[in-house]
Amino acid sequence: MSNNHEKQLKEQRRREREKAKQSRKQRQIVVISTVLVVVLVIAIVGIVFQNQKDDGQATTNNNGSTGQAAAKIDYNGQPSLGDPNASVKIAEFGDYKCIYCKKFEESIFPKLKKDFIDTGKAQFYFINFTVIDETSQVAANAGEAVFHQDPKAFWDFHEALYAKQGDEQDDWVTKDLLTETAKKAVPSLDVKTFEAALDNQTYQKDVNNDINMARNLGVPSTPALFINGQQVDPFDYNKIKETIREAAQGDKGSHG
Ligand code: CA
Repeated sequence: MSNNHEKQLKEQRRREREKAKQSRKQRQIVVISTVLVVVLVIAIVGIVFQNQKDDGQATTNNNGSTGQAAAKIDYNGQPSLGDPNASVKIAEFGDYKCIYCKKFEESIFPKLKKDFIDTGKAQFYFINFTVIDETSQVAANAGEAVFHQDPKAFWDFHEALYAKQGDEQDDWVTKDLLTETAKKAVPSLDVKTFEAALDNQTYQKDVNNDINMARNLGVPSTPALFINGQQVDPFDYNKIKETIREAAQGDKGSHG
């Protein structure tokens, strides 16, 4: 082997080693970049997720009994029961298909009526928040249709419809059932107008307004109860009584 040839071989090996070194470096750069990108993506996803969690907590806190700003409820155009001059306003968000709303109607509402509504201490409102399925909206439309014919008769239909409630999974909300229930509960009902309102979903706008209000308030489920804008557990009657008394006191305080 000549000296020259040996030199050339050496040079060739040196170049190959150099090349291998270069490509190792490139591979390292690719691996490091990939790791960095993955870490960055995980960090971004984490931040977004945390923000969403914080938002959720903020909604809950706004409606909790932590003394924060009371939620805004627009009582205009809602069925109401009791003295309009009462200092305490109680609002229930409910769905005729929701079994716990029926429970509230049968176990808590009669106590509220006897202790606070009939005694002129509080005015009670019912606002639709349809959460079970599409037929919840049909039932809500029926309630609005009776209310628009005769605001006082609404409560008779409201009670009668809860009494007819079937399983949440069943399609028990039919035009026939609603019409029969309305006819029996409200003898003065204009049945043709009522049926037309169901067919044309005449009061869907009112139902949508109710639902939007519930969503804006961050109502988590039904039934939901608000006393002068402060959310309380609808099944804790002691807490309800206490909150009503506090609300009445607060009103007296602000008027001297
Ligand atoms: Ca309404």
